[in-house]
Amino acid sequence: MLILLSGIIIDIDHFFSNPIFDPNRCSINFHPLHSYIAIFIYFSFLFFKKTRIYGIALLIHILADMVDCYMINLN
Ligand SMILES: [Zn+2]
Repeated sequence: MLILLSGIIIDIDHFFSNPIFDPNRCSINFHPLHSYIAIFIYFSFLFFKKTRIYGIALLIHILADMVDCYMINLN
């Protein structure tokens, strides 16, 4: 439940941006929680047993967004 929630929390980032959803925008490095620094922090979560599961959840979200970016670049 908490794991799922952490994946949703990072999505709040998408709601703060204007427009909320733009299919032609890459969210990686656009939102503060999707910056390379943030990704680095999520990655560091993997090294601690207590935060590892959150790191995985957050990195899955980043990965999903990265796939979106890749699809944009193909068009
Ligand atoms: Zn995202």
